[in-house]
Amino acid sequence: MSSSGAGAANPYATIADSLFVEEPPLPDLVRRILSDPRMHDHTGGFLSCLQCGICTSGCPAARFADYSPREISRRARDGDPTLLEDDSVWLCFYCYTCQSRCPRGNSVAVINQVIRGMQVEAGRGVRHVEMFADWAVQFYEKGMGGTPPEFLPHLAEAFGPRWREFIDRREEIRDQLGLGSMYPSEHAAGEMRVLMDATGFSDRLAAMGAPVGAGAVLAKGVAPAGD
Ligand code: SF4
Ligand code: SF4
Repeated sequence: MSSSGAGAANPYATIADSLFVEEPPLPDLVRRILSDPRMHDHTGGFLSCLQCGICTSGCPAARFADYSPREISRRARDGDPTLLEDDSVWLCFYCYTCQSRCPRGNSVAVINQVIRGMQVEAGRGVRHVEMFADWAVQFYEKGMGGTPPEFLPHLAEAFGPRWREFIDRREEIRDQLGLGSMYPSEHAAGEMRVLMDATGFSDRLAAMGAPVGAGAVLAKGVAPAGD
């Protein structure tokens, strides 16, 4: 039986060296995306996207606009910082078709949410969401959002005057039917305000000039959390 002499190359070490190469560090944007709690269920899929294009083939936004979820996935996985200045992520309307069809469990819908959040924090994305500020203020104050007032005339035009009358008289109609208010109790709404304050929701709204925060709510006579 022969034995390896001193200094002879270890063939297993040579194989191991070629197999277990050190991974390069993840790009900054990739680390930021992966650290978002919303990506929790999609981490593996995000890192192993096949670029198969199934997401793009079923995406309604891709059908009508110059937009490709497959491209978004690739650029996000590459850590491409130009995504933070790309308006195309705002073309997605969160139907989740891409997520439900992805063979790897990736979700371009969630990637877009995370990128949009980064764009809003950087100021660039504010113009895409400020139209929803009224909705968010109502959410803050009443514990339930509603159609932004700016949209009501357009919806009334589409659905007709009876729809508008119904919207305006919803609470009265519910009362007549014995259904009670559609809004959560003030106690529940107050608890939600605590969460919104703690998670920075109200700060982001205030940064957009929306009248929210404990002071604004108290000024309107709405009881704070815990009352
Ligand atoms: S995100 Fe999923 S469906 Fe889209 S290209 Fe990657 S693996 Fe395919
Ligand atoms: S969630 Fe967005 S990216 Fe995904 S299929 Fe729907 S519109 Fe396309």
